[in-house]
Amino acid sequence: MKKSVLVVEDNEQNLYLMRYLLEENGYECISARDGKKGIELATQIKPAIILLDIQLPEIDGYAVARELRKDVSMTHTVIIAVTSYAMPGDRERALEAGCTGYIEKPINPDTFLDEIEQYLANSLDEGNQL
Ligand code: MN
Repeated sequence: MKKSVLVVEDNEQNLYLMRYLLEENGYECISARDGKKGIELATQIKPAIILLDIQLPEIDGYAVARELRKDVSMTHTVIIAVTSYAMPGDRERALEAGCTGYIEKPINPDTFLDEIEQYLANSLDEGNQL
């Protein structure tokens, strides 16, 4: 079965690149352009992985992560913050908000999938069911 990935990202170019890389590697990609829609879709779809931009319109990525972690059915969902390289403080804040880990922007097409799969594998190692 194809694993579903929800990408919450308001930047078209980043979204396009992530979608391309995910689909190319056999993942199903669902997307939301803002935090509110992201929470709505995550709750409906229960994706295996959520890629979460931090700077989003309406509700930022930290608030989205905190909200999703309140839902017991998403306690173990792999939530990966997509943070800007220029903003190191974002990473700690993302982890504090409940993210599993982070990937740096700009997206590196050579390492993007490996990074995601590493987080996924670690989560499965911990016995989490997706
Ligand atoms: Mn953004």
